[in-house]
Amino acid sequence: ETPYLQVRDLTVTFPTADGPVRAVQGLSYTLSLGRTLAVVGESGSGKSVSSMAIMGLHDPSSTRITGSISVGGQEIVGMSPAQLRRHRGGTAAMIFQDPPSSLHPYFTVGDQIVEAYRAHHKVSKRVARDRAVDLLGRVGIPNPRRRLDDHPHQFSGGMRQRAMIAMALVNDPKLLIADEPTTALDVTVQAQILDLIMDLQQDFGSAVLFITHDLGVVAEIADDVLVMYGGRAVEHGRVEAILGRPQHPYTWGLLESIPAVSGEPTRLHPIPGLPPSLLALPTGCSFHPRCEFAGRLDGACTRELPDLISRAADTTRTSRCHLPDPEQVFQTEILPRLP
Ligand code: SF4
Ligand code: MG
Repeated sequence: ETPYLQVRDLTVTFPTADGPVRAVQGLSYTLSLGRTLAVVGESGSGKSVSSMAIMGLHDPSSTRITGSISVGGQEIVGMSPAQLRRHRGGTAAMIFQDPPSSLHPYFTVGDQIVEAYRAHHKVSKRVARDRAVDLLGRVGIPNPRRRLDDHPHQFSGGMRQRAMIAMALVNDPKLLIADEPTTALDVTVQAQILDLIMDLQQDFGSAVLFITHDLGVVAEIADDVLVMYGGRAVEHGRVEAILGRPQHPYTWGLLESIPAVSGEPTRLHPIPGLPPSLLALPTGCSFHPRCEFAGRLDGACTRELPDLISRAADTTRTSRCHLPDPEQVFQTEILPRLP
């Protein structure tokens, strides 16, 4: 079976006052229907930029995209603005962390869902309203027919998030991209929204691309995990492997910085230093200025970019690090430090 989403050697470059920035570099992965891929990384890792490119939300006049993005067999790279509009909200839809920016404050929730449906279907307003009621009900909004005529500010934060999910789903997208959709919500509502997204995925059979910086969320929802750093994939594989036997020191750092108790705001051992500037990526391995193992490898880390390779024992996963046996280092040095 062909994966629904296939990203091949994707590179995204933006112009800036200080020169072109390559926000994503040589990224490849696939995602099948019914599966959830979590894309993990700090801000500036390229996780959001790559998903914006998949949605066709970049500015085509300035952003340069090379490589291939195939969604349901259709090539997105090089599509015209009109084709991209049909793609957005049709084959693919996105849920953001910030409902106020995606739900318009002046229009009722119902009108916005109706318009989103009618943009892709030639149906009467009445049919579209019935569809909106159905969707609002499915995302768990009580009395959906009555709530249809409310404005977004009359909804609580969690209800707004649900309404936005209803709007994203109204055209039965086979690919759903969720960009930190629960970050702004309190822990209880966050858990409800994650459950909702997983339930809806079962019902709709869609492929879900879930962007987050939170490995706790990853453990809850993901089948596969892609860890990004400085615009590149540094580790990729099944969730059990990435969380249980991670091979990349950056992933180790993320694991060590998970709060011990879910929702506890303090981070245990934050990764030292800051994510790199994409304008001036460090030489060799981009992670080397922050990596406690960089000094062990005779300068290889500052000299050469490691390839993304799968190690002999396990071909379902890849990682990008010069350490000869990273899983051994994880077992003996990192695991004893984890809470
Ligand atoms: Fe650390 Fe070197 Fe591996 Fe990069 S290649 S993650 S610097 S050990
Ligand atoms: Mg982001």
